[in-house]
Formats: sequence, structure tokens, C-alpha cells
Amino acid sequence: MREITEIFIHCSATKPQWMYQSTADQKAAEIRRWHVEENGWKDIGYHFIIDRDGDVVRGRPIERAGAHVKNHNAKSIGICLIGGWGGAATDQFEEHFTKLQEEALLKLLDDLTPKFPDAKIRGHNEVANKGCPCFTVSEFIDDRRTKETKDVQEGSSNTASLITSIINLLVGLLRK
Ligand SMILES: [Zn+2]
Repeated sequence: MREITEIFIHCSATKPQWMYQSTADQKAAEIRRWHVEENGWKDIGYHFIIDRDGDVVRGRPIERAGAHVKNHNAKSIGICLIGGWGGAATDQFEEHFTKLQEEALLKLLDDLTPKFPDAKIRGHNEVANKGCPCFTVSEFIDDRRTKETKDVQEGSSNTASLITSIINLLVGLLRK
């Protein structure tokens, strides 16, 4: 396996309803066609494609360098979210993508991170003067991680308050 130092998030820059009756595989095949027939590349440039319903399709095998960020392809993995038409680098994730895509992306990153612990997760717009993927990846990741931590803390305090209620109930029963 080649060394991976970066995982890049991209968007397909297509409208939300683009090929809406097609499967994720068919959409990935269309992107592959753009990259092979129109760009003259060997294969689709991305390693993963995330459809609007959260379906994840594999593109180019991760063992092979992709074609998605100029000067960064050799040591990176490219993930493409379907959507992001006409967006800007400063937009919010939810302006362009679905909740199911958010869940699928976070799950995919959770799968990849242990395999490539040194890889930095970045947006295409961090290294190129582009809108892609139409949100700020670092902010998105920080925000979701904070939310997860908060959920865990709230979960434990709920358990604590449940235990307190049970103890109070038992104490109440003993007093009777
Ligand atoms: Zn991109």
C-alpha cells in the first residue's frame, strides 16, 4: 500500500436532482466517463463517491494514486460527494448535501482514519483556488466531533440522573 498523508473531500458540482433516478453506481460510471473520455485519464479520478442517499461507491482502488488534486495525488485519497453545484468554499455543508451524505462521509472517514492515522482530512479548496467541496472541511469535522463529545457527555449525565432517581426511589421505599 502506498503512503497516505492526505484525504481530500470533493464535490461533483452537479445539481441536487442530477441523474436522480439513477443508482450511485450509474452516477459513478458517468463521472468515470467524464474523466476517461473527456479528460483522457485512465480511470475515474476519485476513490470513493458518496451519493445523495448515502450510498458509497468505490472508484479507483485506494492502492492506486487518484487524479483529483494537482500535485497531491501520489499520497492521497479522494472522496467525492454528489452535489455542490455553483457553491462557494465558504458555504455550509447542509446547503449542498444531505444528512445521509453527512452520516456516510463521517462513517467512511471513521473507517479510513485508523488505517491511515497520519492522513490529514482536507477540502480541495484548501490547496486550490476552488469552491470544491463547497464547505470548510476543518470546520465541518470540528463541529461534528464536538457534537459527538457533547452527545456522549449528555448520555452519561442521563445515566447518572437515572441512577440518582433509582436510589431516591429505593430510599423512599425503605423509609415506608
Ligand atoms: Zn475537487
